[in-house]
Amino acid sequence: MRQASLPQHPVPETDRSFDDLQLTPELRLAVDELGWTHPTPIQAAIIPTALTGSDVVGLAETGSGKTAAFALPMVQRLEPGKGVTGLVLSPTREITLQTKAFFDYFGASRRMRAVSLIGGLNIRHQMDELRKKPDIVVATPGRLLDHLERGTVRLDKVRELVLDEADHMLDLGFMPQIHKVLEHLPKQRHTMMFSATMPADVERLARRFLTDPVRVDITPPGRTASGITHRLYLVDVDNKRAAIHSLLNHELGPTLVFVRRRSDAEWLFRILEREGHPVERLHSDLSQRERLEALSGFREGRHRILVATDVAARGLDIPVIRHVVNYDIPETVEDYIHRAGRTARGEATGLVSTVATWMNKEMVREIERAIGHPLARCTTPGVEPYVEHVPRRRLGRRR
Ligand code: AMP
Repeated sequence: MRQASLPQHPVPETDRSFDDLQLTPELRLAVDELGWTHPTPIQAAIIPTALTGSDVVGLAETGSGKTAAFALPMVQRLEPGKGVTGLVLSPTREITLQTKAFFDYFGASRRMRAVSLIGGLNIRHQMDELRKKPDIVVATPGRLLDHLERGTVRLDKVRELVLDEADHMLDLGFMPQIHKVLEHLPKQRHTMMFSATMPADVERLARRFLTDPVRVDITPPGRTASGITHRLYLVDVDNKRAAIHSLLNHELGPTLVFVRRRSDAEWLFRILEREGHPVERLHSDLSQRERLEALSGFREGRHRILVATDVAARGLDIPVIRHVVNYDIPETVEDYIHRAGRTARGEATGLVSTVATWMNKEMVREIERAIGHPLARCTTPGVEPYVEHVPRRRLGRRR
């Protein structure tokens, strides 16, 4: 039985039709039943190319429709019941589970079985799942390597490989594990790689493990979705807490609040909870089950507010997010763009509020350079704004 349990939200569409993409009638029907009318740009470009067996590098991030862009051709090209013939390497547990849901859905008409192998969950249960002869493995590199070393999974029949969010896997330090995992794969195979950016190490990965890939670039780097309104709240350090309260009380939609460290996430979560806010938190010190509960509670509207760290929130695909608050300014411009991308998914609109102090001025300038315009200086009721000083040298020497 096929279940349409995939996350849904508006995405950029092309004027192409899924009829033109050479999908089998079963997969065409599966797409139809999801209510998808047009392929996204990445799907229109990648699906027919991948179906011919060309390796591909897709420059695309979550929200572009990339998961279906690789899942559909993989399901179509693989023969079920031949052992593990499909492998997807993913950076985080959340993305792994989201990706597996696509294979469960699209693979159903061909009776294909997918398993997810992620750290933090019981390895014995995963061994039981592996004994049921899956066709496709979706895994984080570390846990997959554990299984390879224990001999509980074999990858010598893999014909279809996807490296998903390669830049993100690189950020998380997974490159050595990826290299080790890929040694277990046959040389003869079809490989697709997806990445939002192309740092040198990701380029090297592509050169080493892909053959003459077709490159599909749909997201100019540094661009955030056009439906986002960016606001800046400059406050004194002591007023950060007042600012978050005021923002949470005045913007009422589902809100994702970013903090820098796991301990900050716990701290802010407890404060907001004590004050009666419907809040949850997401960071990597929590158990897998706690993380999944936090996510589903937020997705389903039981908690309006989710306090998260960058690593935990990477790749989150939650269409309902209306407001992203940077309680702590991000450490890099890429993180700002990534955080901002959690709202205004596809063609929806959203708001990104950054709470900053005078100490963050340099990062504010970098963010403004990256998004191509100044962040609108805003005030929120009950919080004294911090007044920016014109630098002394522009005022001339005083003495
Ligand atoms: P992804 O970029 O793969 O994380 O997909 C983003 C979201 O868009 C997911 O919720 C998909 O279910 C949805 N989606 C993907 N392709 C389409 C499409 N062609 N039409 C409508 N929704 C889509």
